[in-house]
Amino acid sequence: MTMYRWMLMPLLLLLWLPAVGRGKAAAATDFDALMRKQGLVDVATLDPSITVDLKYSTTDNFVGRDMYGGLKKAYLYKATAQSLLKALKQLQAIDPKWSFIVYDAARPVSVQRIMWNLVKGTDKQKYVASPHRGGPHNYGIAVDIGLTYDGRPVDMGTPFDSFTSDAHITDEPALVHQGRISAEAMKNRQLLRKMLTDNGFFTYSREWWHFTRYNMTYVRKHIGLLDF
Ligand SMILES: [Zn+2]
Repeated sequence: MTMYRWMLMPLLLLLWLPAVGRGKAAAATDFDALMRKQGLVDVATLDPSITVDLKYSTTDNFVGRDMYGGLKKAYLYKATAQSLLKALKQLQAIDPKWSFIVYDAARPVSVQRIMWNLVKGTDKQKYVASPHRGGPHNYGIAVDIGLTYDGRPVDMGTPFDSFTSDAHITDEPALVHQGRISAEAMKNRQLLRKMLTDNGFFTYSREWWHFTRYNMTYVRKHIGLLDF
């Protein structure tokens, strides 16, 4: 029996190897299946009022290239998506015409690698996290988000991924005072922050649009990296 198994092994390996190669090539583009398999939720299915404008899957981003390839939808880790839905309910209790626009969400590590290779050695390298360890977007627990009213994005002071101090949230009254953002933009940012932080999200001081659910120590221990 043992002998038979040993003889069979190389044959089985030969049959198996090309299949693995083919499987990998096909799976590399099917991000939707991989996201679902890892228990992530398509943000667009949470509520019909949510707009998804995945900037990195277009050429309208800070690199000017489509960096997402086959990834066209915004996904979030299930519990993070539920927190976002709670935030939306709270927002729409104020006025049902409010909603969210999502610019970025879960990002597989392979995509992070592509982004990293595109900016490596350029002045844009500092805006992209190294793929080696994985950041909050690589776990599906971070969302880049703005507000819409009646389906239209409202003034948030700067566009998404505007890497200037005007996007910082540390001293918005000063930005208003200096005429760099409008008073309305400050109010919109405050409203967005209130809804998200009331529902467990953390802010990021340099980007009004970036929110993370859970701290990274918890995330690295309990949530799976999108390692595909
Ligand atoms: Zn972000």
